[in-house]
Amino acid sequence: MGLRFSGPPEGVFIANSRLFIISGPSGAGKGTIVQRLLEERPNTKLSVSCTTRPARPMEKEGVHYFFISEREFAERRDRGEFLEWAEVHGSMYGTPRKVVDGLLAEGYDVILEIDVQGAAEVKSVMPEARLIFIEAPSMQILEQRLRRRSTEMEDAQVRRLSDAYDELRKKESFDGVVVNVEVEQAVKEVLALMDSR
Ligand code: 5GP
Repeated sequence: MGLRFSGPPEGVFIANSRLFIISGPSGAGKGTIVQRLLEERPNTKLSVSCTTRPARPMEKEGVHYFFISEREFAERRDRGEFLEWAEVHGSMYGTPRKVVDGLLAEGYDVILEIDVQGAAEVKSVMPEARLIFIEAPSMQILEQRLRRRSTEMEDAQVRRLSDAYDELRKKESFDGVVVNVEVEQAVKEVLALMDSR
């Protein structure tokens, strides 16, 4: 664990912008679903987080994450630059407040793809935020997807899998849960949750 919330961003709900949070275990397919949501909704932007974990081979700086050192992360956290931050699977992750603030102020809807700790923190101070949980059809399928993705070493995969049990326990507090059996169907269900009042 290890999460602090450093206060709501200013001006969040000016314009009719909405904030969506997508969470769920590693391997549930959040990334693929979010990419499809962004294609479907040009007025929706993904907030790019900062992390201290190393970049995977295909990941690009500023596109997938801002990859920063632990020292820089701590400095930025202490300056209150993160809307929320958390330790997840042994690395630090944080949502840059300025980016989210700016996008909302420009009138975009914003998606945060963050873990369940961050989701709960944002919701506690911004109850208007819509929380959507994505899960795999079963733990067995989740494990298969994680192994097939093979972006992590064996011990990191095991950790992500065991963390999944903790994450699944939090899903009841979400506004909606989507089981990702098939991507296009899951995207439709997430869009319906985003549009529901
Ligand atoms: P990954 O290392 O697979 O990209 O992400 C690991 C976990 O960290 C995922 O559950 C992802 O949603 C979460 N995560 C990514 N960025 C943030 C962030 O800024 N804040 C929090 N709390 N979690 C994040």
